[in-house]
Amino acid sequence: MTANGKEAKCPFCGSEELEEQTTDYLYTHDDKYLLIPNMPVLVCSTCGMVYYPGTVLEEVERHFFNIYNQQEQPDGYIQMPTLAYAGSGN
Ligand SMILES: [Zn+2]
Repeated sequence: MTANGKEAKCPFCGSEELEEQTTDYLYTHDDKYLLIPNMPVLVCSTCGMVYYPGTVLEEVERHFFNIYNQQEQPDGYIQMPTLAYAGSGN
């Protein structure tokens, strides 16, 4: 009997102060990557936890597989520097 349209609630601290924000999200699967700039997320204003709405993640997953199955073109490609932290002493 909850009729206050807001179903969003922080599972971590129980706060209902969830703020809609955007973030750059890097989806990884089997050593493949898909970067989603400005992905909508929910951020708890009380404890700062970041939540990815399930529907958004499903979307991302679908695009990811479409792109890697070559059924869809990504909007672009980026180059990233990488650093393998091996800790080899001299
Ligand atoms: Zn919270």
